[in-house]
Amino acid sequence: MDLTKSSVAGLLATFMAASAFAQSASNESSLLVAAREEQAAVIASLEKMVLIESGSNDIEGLEEMARYSQDRLQALGAATERVPATNGQAPGLVKGVFKGNGKLRVMLIAHMDTVYRQGILDVEPYRREGNKLFGPGIADDKGGIAVVLHSLAILQKSGWNDYETLTVLFDPDEEIGSPGSGAIIAQLGSENDVVLSYEPSPAKSIAQDEGVLLSAAGTAQIKLVVTGRAAHAGAAHAEGRNALIELAHQLVQTRDLAETIPGAQLNWTTANGGTARNQIPGRAEAGSDVRFTRQGAAEELLAAIRSKVNENPLIPDTQSEVSMEIMRPMFVAGEKGLKLAQLAKSIYAELDSGTLEEETTREMPGPNAPGRNLLLIPETTGGTDAGFAASSGKPAVLESMGLAGWGYHAKNEFIEIDSIVPRLYLTSRMLVELGKRASAGDPL
Ligand SMILES: [Zn+2]
Repeated sequence: MDLTKSSVAGLLATFMAASAFAQSASNESSLLVAAREEQAAVIASLEKMVLIESGSNDIEGLEEMARYSQDRLQALGAATERVPATNGQAPGLVKGVFKGNGKLRVMLIAHMDTVYRQGILDVEPYRREGNKLFGPGIADDKGGIAVVLHSLAILQKSGWNDYETLTVLFDPDEEIGSPGSGAIIAQLGSENDVVLSYEPSPAKSIAQDEGVLLSAAGTAQIKLVVTGRAAHAGAAHAEGRNALIELAHQLVQTRDLAETIPGAQLNWTTANGGTARNQIPGRAEAGSDVRFTRQGAAEELLAAIRSKVNENPLIPDTQSEVSMEIMRPMFVAGEKGLKLAQLAKSIYAELDSGTLEEETTREMPGPNAPGRNLLLIPETTGGTDAGFAASSGKPAVLESMGLAGWGYHAKNEFIEIDSIVPRLYLTSRMLVELGKRASAGDPL
């Protein structure tokens, strides 16, 4: 993602050249005070949610998570509903809509499912050690849900209503590629100016500083189906056209093709062919894991595989068909998302700067001001719902607004307690600023 990195640098320069915007310090510090007061409630919510096991296939657990988060949104004053997943899978998505008096249309997204199997709490219980809270799914993504709920609680107490609509969407299938949610997230994303996504940020103890994410790979699968001709393997093998041998040949000759295509990655991962020991197989097929970090790279890879397969078969009279399914669009923050990232960086710079408590009018610090640093993470190979949210090209989208943590999809998942207040402040402060800008004509 060289392109992304260079545009980060470019935007940084533009941002530094532009004058910072004025803000009343008393306003910001009251949000920070409220964030500090909210920390204990966040920890209580995290414990509640971690104790609800909700693996992607655990329909009962997901239903409980959906009920819990829908009740919480309702208590905050949202009009809530359960949006049916496009694949009919229970429990559907939890949606909450708040109506304000301003112009900003913003959506906050997070997911309710985890990668863990049922019973995980028996071996990895919820627990606190120093600055860390441990629990399956606590960072990915129950921390994200907690930041959304409690930031909204802070803003509600402050009387903020400078937005037209504020939509909250929690989906139940992110960890398996959002098969029933992706299209809904994309549609709702296209109806908003800004989408903030609440996957975790890497922990400070791992990455030095908290961060936000600017791009994530898209995923696809390419399938190769070879049709040959079945025949008795003993008596009439010469009549047969061995699809399995042809498949093997095609896999070997295409396995490195992605190396010639920037932003594409291909790994053949599954294969089957043949059903009987004594029959020349008439059909064989293989599947692959494809990742792409450049728009169009997956399509170029598909075309390259097709032409290689057609121009150099091994077994005469066999047909090889190559098809592709895009599973998850890639996420690229782009210019609009970078503006959100720079705003986030400026808000972080207000923290730990020692000036926040002064009740005087002052300018918001630039992104490089001293204060708490925020990393702009160029990319990850992991997938994210932000790709669906951004797929229409309409909203500005920023990812990794959740709590700082580590160990997700692994063992001993944790969040860092000292990321709670900064993250609550980041969301609440950012929404106030975006609302103000939208009312003035442009949210960015
Ligand atoms: Zn996640």
